[in-house]
Amino acid sequence: MRIGAHVRSAGGVKEVVPRALELGAEAVQFFISAPQQWRPPVITEEDAAAFRRAREEAGLPCFLHGVYLVNLASSEQALLGRSVGSLKQYLKWGTALGVEGVIFHVGSHKGQGFEAVAPQVCRLVREVLEYAPDGCKLIMENNAGQGGGVGSTFAELGALIRGLDNDPRVGICLDTCHAFAMGYDLASREGCERAMEEFDRYIGLDRLLVVHANDSKVPLGGVRDRHENIGDGYIGYEGFRTILAHPAFRNVPFILEVPGIDGEGPDAENVARLKRIREELGLA
Ligand SMILES: [Zn+2]
Ligand SMILES: [Zn+2]
Repeated sequence: MRIGAHVRSAGGVKEVVPRALELGAEAVQFFISAPQQWRPPVITEEDAAAFRRAREEAGLPCFLHGVYLVNLASSEQALLGRSVGSLKQYLKWGTALGVEGVIFHVGSHKGQGFEAVAPQVCRLVREVLEYAPDGCKLIMENNAGQGGGVGSTFAELGALIRGLDNDPRVGICLDTCHAFAMGYDLASREGCERAMEEFDRYIGLDRLLVVHANDSKVPLGGVRDRHENIGDGYIGYEGFRTILAHPAFRNVPFILEVPGIDGEGPDAENVARLKRIREELGLA
């Protein structure tokens, strides 16, 4: 498995790969616009070409993360329109940059319940996919279950994929912190076995395209999204050993979204911690 990190794209996407390599990252995720705003990404052809060159040279798997405002489960038409528009833009740019996929949060039903919003979510994802040129996957991330988050359980994510007629362009990103907060005890051997069996049953392990490797500041089942540095949270160093040792993750890139030792985001130290575990386990 590759150990990677989310890095900033300040200064343009051409900065992303060099920044990742500085951390020792073997895979990378980045934003192409401010994640708290709708403003569409603006990337010059020159910048994109420099990114593609650097990426090809380094051979890094790359992922975009969509904006946080996206909500395909909303009852507000304007928000739905903007969400669909944003995801289409990201897929367009993802294809232009040649990345593996666009990771996004499905959204929140705000109390309506999953069953009530699932058909709408599937219809909108289908609409987004119509504009998805081949090659760049659309990747749904599990959430920590707070505020009516859609896709917090493997059962929900599986139901969405079936609602999309098992479209091969749709994949899953498993965030370890979010799963732990939802009560999937990835930190214990038995819990990890059970969780990944459930993942396989509802979703299928072949859909697991990427892992967000984050420790958790809240205990198991805390239903809150608070990332911690690897080994410093409730999943802990041993917990990550258990996760890395599980065969389900063998060929899946791990991307850190941790606060960092200095609070400035994923850093070389966190990359090194996961690499150390990988080495201890004798994994490539
Ligand atoms: Zn995440
Ligand atoms: Zn999170």
